[in-house]
Amino acid sequence: MVRFQRPIELGNGARVGIVGGGPAGTLTAFFLLDVARNIGIDLRVEIFESRQFTCTGPAGCNMCGGVISESLLQMMAADGIHLPEEVVIDTIDSYMLHTDVGSVSIQAPVTEKRIASIYRGAGPHGAESQAPLPWRSFDEFLLNLAVQSGAYHIAERVTGIEWSDGRPLLITRGGERRDYDFLVGAVGINGTSVSLFEKMGRGYQPPRSVRAFIGEFYVGEKMVQRVLGHSMHVFLLELPGLKFAAMTPKGHYATFIILGDNIDKEMVQRVLAHPAVRQCLPPHWEIPVLPCQCQPRIYLGMPQRFFGHRFAMVGDCGVSRLYKDGIGAAYRTAKALAMTAVTHGVTAADLRKHYLPTCRALERDNKLGHLVFYLDELLGKSSLFRMGLLQTVQQEQEQYPVATERRLSGALWDIFTGSASYRDIVLRASHPTVLWHMIKNGWSSIGRH
Ligand SMILES: Cc1cc2nc3c(=O)[nH]c(=O)nc-3n(C[C@H](O)[C@H](O)[C@H](O)COP(=O)(O)OP(=O)(O)OC[C@H]3O[C@@H](n4cnc5c(N)ncnc54)[C@H](O)[C@@H]3O)c2cc1C
Repeated sequence: MVRFQRPIELGNGARVGIVGGGPAGTLTAFFLLDVARNIGIDLRVEIFESRQFTCTGPAGCNMCGGVISESLLQMMAADGIHLPEEVVIDTIDSYMLHTDVGSVSIQAPVTEKRIASIYRGAGPHGAESQAPLPWRSFDEFLLNLAVQSGAYHIAERVTGIEWSDGRPLLITRGGERRDYDFLVGAVGINGTSVSLFEKMGRGYQPPRSVRAFIGEFYVGEKMVQRVLGHSMHVFLLELPGLKFAAMTPKGHYATFIILGDNIDKEMVQRVLAHPAVRQCLPPHWEIPVLPCQCQPRIYLGMPQRFFGHRFAMVGDCGVSRLYKDGIGAAYRTAKALAMTAVTHGVTAADLRKHYLPTCRALERDNKLGHLVFYLDELLGKSSLFRMGLLQTVQQEQEQYPVATERRLSGALWDIFTGSASYRDIVLRASHPTVLWHMIKNGWSSIGRH
C-alpha cells in the first residue's frame, strides 16, 4: 500500500531551529525570513551558535582561506547583501601561478571580476595586539544580518537532538529543551557535532572529507604588499599527495593554505621550504614561533540521507563544492532550502523534489572537479605539460585583449577563485585551440631546454 505524507508547511508562528551560525546557518535564517515575509508568514527562527566571532584566533574562527569568489559577491549584491568595507581585508585582482618549471601572472578576466579576502573571526591569533582592529569578522557580519532580519541568536551549544511526536527537539549545554517544526543542521564538518545528527536515527552520514592546512603568517603590511601585492599566489608543485597550495595577502598577514591527501606536518614543511614558495616570502623569513595555524577538514563528497521528514543539513555538513567556494555553496544551498521549506513544505518528499536538485547539481559538478585534479596530478608529472601550460597562459595574456579568447587563463582563474563551475572550466580548457597551443608550446620549450 502506498502511503502519502500530508504536506507540512511552515505557517504563521512555525518554529525553525538552526544548529550552527556559520555562513550556511545564518544565510538559511536570512532567506527563510525573507521568503516568509514576502508571502506574509510570520516565522520564529532560532540560530544556536556559541562561537564568539569577535575573538581573534581559534575562539572566533571557522577555519577557512577566506577568499570570496566574485560570483558570490554578485549573488549577494543581487539579494541586497553588500559586504561593508571593513569586512573586506584585501581585493585580489590577479594571481601568480607558480610551478616547478616557472611562474606566470594571470590578470582578472575583466576588471569587475575581482575577489575579496576576509577573516571569518576577528583575525589571527596575536592580532589583538593591533587593537582597535581595522577589520570585522565575515561570520559576525552574517550573524548580525540574520538577527536584523528577525532571527533569534541563542549563544548556546546544542548537545542533544531528540524526536517527540515526530517533531525535532534540541537540548542545549545548559539543559534547556526546545521543540521545532523544522530542524536545520548547519554545523560544518569541523567538530564533533555531525555525530549528533548521525545518532539522531534518521540515517544521516556526513560527507567524506580530508585534512587541509591553513596558516596565517605575520609578514607586516609593507612586506605583504611588496612580495604578494594584490595577487593570490597559487603553487602547483610536483610533491606527491599535494593538490595545490595558495598564499593570499590579508593586511599584515599572508594566509597560506595547502590542500591534498591528508596534509601532515611533514608536507607543510616540504611545501614551505620549496624554492617556488620561498621566492614569494621575504628573504630570511622564518615561520613565527607561535603561528596561527590549523588543520581543518575540507569537503570531498556527498553525504547520505542529509534530509528527511522535518529536517535538512545545509552547507559543509550537507552538500558543498570540491576544494573551492565553500561559502558560495553554502549560499546556494541555504537559499534553495529556505525556498523549499517556506513555499513547498518540510516533508522528505518536498525536500527531495525541491532542495535535492540544487545539491545534485553541485555534486555532479564536483565529479568533474575530481577529474580535473586527477588529470592535473597525472599530467603535472610531465614538464612538457607544465611548460606548455605556462607558455600558453603567457601568450594568451600578451596576445588576446578580449577576455573570452583567453580560455586557459580564464579556466585557471576560475579553478582557484571558485567563480565558475568545473563543467565550464573543463569546456574552456579542453577547447581544441587551447590543446593545440599547449602541445606546441610544450614541445618547443622542451626543445629550447
Ligand atoms: C583549508 C580550507 C580553506 C578554505 N578556503 C575557503 C575559501 O577561501 N573560500 C570559501 O568560500 N570557502 C573556503 N573553505 C570552505 C569553507 O570554510 C566552508 O565551506 C564554510 O565554512 C562552510 O560553512 P558552514 O556554515 O557550512 O560551516 P562552518 O563555517 O564550519 O560553520 C559551522 C558553525 O556551526 C557551529 N556549531 C557547530 N556545532 C554546533 C553546536 N553543537 N551547537 C551550536 N553551534 C554549533 C560552529 O561553531 C560554526 O560556527 C575552506 C575550507 C578549508 C578547510
